[in-house]
Amino acid sequence: MAAVTIYNEVKTEEKLLAFTFDDGPNPEWTPQFLDTFKQYGGKATFYVQGTNMEKYPEIARRIVLEGHELGNHSYSHPRLPELDREGQVEELQRAEQLIVAVTGVRPNTFRPPYLAVNDELLSVAGEFDYAVIHGVNLEANDWDMPGVSHIVDSTRAVMRSGSILLFHDGFGDRSQSLAAISILLEEAVAQGYRFVTVSELLGLKT
Ligand SMILES: [Zn+2]
Repeated sequence: MAAVTIYNEVKTEEKLLAFTFDDGPNPEWTPQFLDTFKQYGGKATFYVQGTNMEKYPEIARRIVLEGHELGNHSYSHPRLPELDREGQVEELQRAEQLIVAVTGVRPNTFRPPYLAVNDELLSVAGEFDYAVIHGVNLEANDWDMPGVSHIVDSTRAVMRSGSILLFHDGFGDRSQSLAAISILLEEAVAQGYRFVTVSELLGLKT
């Protein structure tokens, strides 16, 4: 079995960042994230949840229409290591089929819910030919509403060429996440960064 790598970043000299947003699509928040991204230009990756793809396919289509990428984040967001192999396959497959049905594009990266993996899941991800994606700014904990300045400061501290940055657009009150990415995008643009999808970033890996 080929070893599956978990990516937090890609080594590159190019000033590229991959912003990623988990758990959508969400009718209230995802459009605001898309509007903010449009303001600063570039592309992002949305790790969508299958059950939300069923509810809000039109928002998923808007994500893709605006040039962003969808990634697999499972169908129902379980802790996948607690499932057997068959259950893991089903979760990834249902999510993939929904993404293909709604957008016509097959996802090629996967972010495990809760970033939880075991050997079985990595092997399953390998069978799907998915790169497994975490991120460098895990201390930001934006999902937990720790305050805009905490999200910004802990992300800024690890933001460098090739970073994959993890945020959430998909549940609860995402106002802090939205405010934080607005600040970070503006700073990053001023520093000469460009924003690319995870697939584009992985395309650079040697
Ligand atoms: Zn999630």
